[in-house]
Amino acid sequence: TEAYLAAMEKGRSLGAYVLETPEKARAMAKASDERLARGEGRALEGIPLGVKDLFCTEGVRTTACSRILGNFVPSYESTVTANLWADGAVMLGKLNNDEFAMGSSNETSAFGPVTNPWRRQGDNRSLVPGGSSGGSATAVSAWLCAGATGTDTGGSIRQPAAFTGIVGIKPTYGRCSRWGIVAFASSLDQAGPFARTVRDAAILLKSFASVDPKDTTSADRPVPDYEAAVGRSVKGMVIGIPKEYRVDGMPAEIEALWSQGIAWLKAAGAEIREISLPHTKYALPAYYIVAPAEASSNLARYDGIRYGLRVPGNDIVDTYEKSRAAGFGAEVRRRIMIGTYVLSAGYYDAYYVRAQKVRTLIKRDFELAFEAGVDAVLTPATPSAAFGIGEKSGGDPVEMYLNDIFTVTVNMAGLPGIAVPAGLDSQGLPLGLQLIGRPFDEETLFQVAQVIE
Ligand code: GLN
Repeated sequence: TEAYLAAMEKGRSLGAYVLETPEKARAMAKASDERLARGEGRALEGIPLGVKDLFCTEGVRTTACSRILGNFVPSYESTVTANLWADGAVMLGKLNNDEFAMGSSNETSAFGPVTNPWRRQGDNRSLVPGGSSGGSATAVSAWLCAGATGTDTGGSIRQPAAFTGIVGIKPTYGRCSRWGIVAFASSLDQAGPFARTVRDAAILLKSFASVDPKDTTSADRPVPDYEAAVGRSVKGMVIGIPKEYRVDGMPAEIEALWSQGIAWLKAAGAEIREISLPHTKYALPAYYIVAPAEASSNLARYDGIRYGLRVPGNDIVDTYEKSRAAGFGAEVRRRIMIGTYVLSAGYYDAYYVRAQKVRTLIKRDFELAFEAGVDAVLTPATPSAAFGIGEKSGGDPVEMYLNDIFTVTVNMAGLPGIAVPAGLDSQGLPLGLQLIGRPFDEETLFQVAQVIE
């Protein structure tokens, strides 16, 4: 804990932490030492972790990196973080993210951007760590914590993991409780860990996962020993390669990385099979209807009365309007407007209902592949390596949304997906591959990812 606290101080310019909690960390580490001395060590005893600022932490400021939450201090702890502390982990602080987890570069945060610890060879330009869990990714990659929590609605764990050369897993929808996590799009949101190795991610996920009476969508299923899956042979497993993921204009380096991943799995004894997921091309547009629709509903609670920032107006409606105008950033306002539009009476059937139908078809594509014997699907994690701060923000928002092209399908289908570092591009930046699995079969993802790592 002391080593990580010292590293955090040195690494402050990266902007990964929005709040450091050294006193809490030391008290938790001391309690860990005492348990260990009594021979009562738990699964994550003394492991120092960072927490995305989307997770409510009791008595510790939680803002979702939005001005509208101001200095909100929750009186309760999210189930996921409560699980981690119950297993002996130590909290180092709260990590930066895109405002309300809306973004792919961590540039929409009210606290400012996060810098990726990686640089292009011979170019000192600061790069984004990806988003929305950019603080988590940078902190783990730069050794400012041993592991971190993230959330993934459309790629916010997997894309930043790929951009920073680490492992990130979005578990099956329902594997982890969403209770106490600031809601973005409730039917897509899922918590998951960031770690430097597949094994660490497996160990962390065991603590993250639980059924929770406070989240009725959490699954009442036993939590397997994920670590036991790491190192198991993949001989005879069937790995699906979806032809629709060979998108137009895919950089040659991403193609090459994918081929390399295929070759590694083949060499390890897996059977490679080309598959078709025909509705893939509709996933991104459908996601950008469903996610803003749910967000516009979830964010209606921020009214300047109950939480955080209040800008007093002449009457209550004026107070709502002034508080929301001052509290939400541009990207969040855009999502609220899109969401309100697609849910409005005249457009509901044309957009929202249609997007939900597309979602069913996307899910069905994967079901057919799994029914035909595919154990996991291998794709690139992102269409590019990390880009420069400012390079894709401020322009056409669709430029930024295209980052999610390989990840959103997984959330739409509720499936588990893992990003695993697979190599470097010609400029020395990390690139990741993604593995997608059957519902509640995270074990297979850890098993196969370990061959690539
Ligand atoms: N980049 C996507 C978005 O902006 C996904 C974000 C996320 O997974 N939280 O919606």
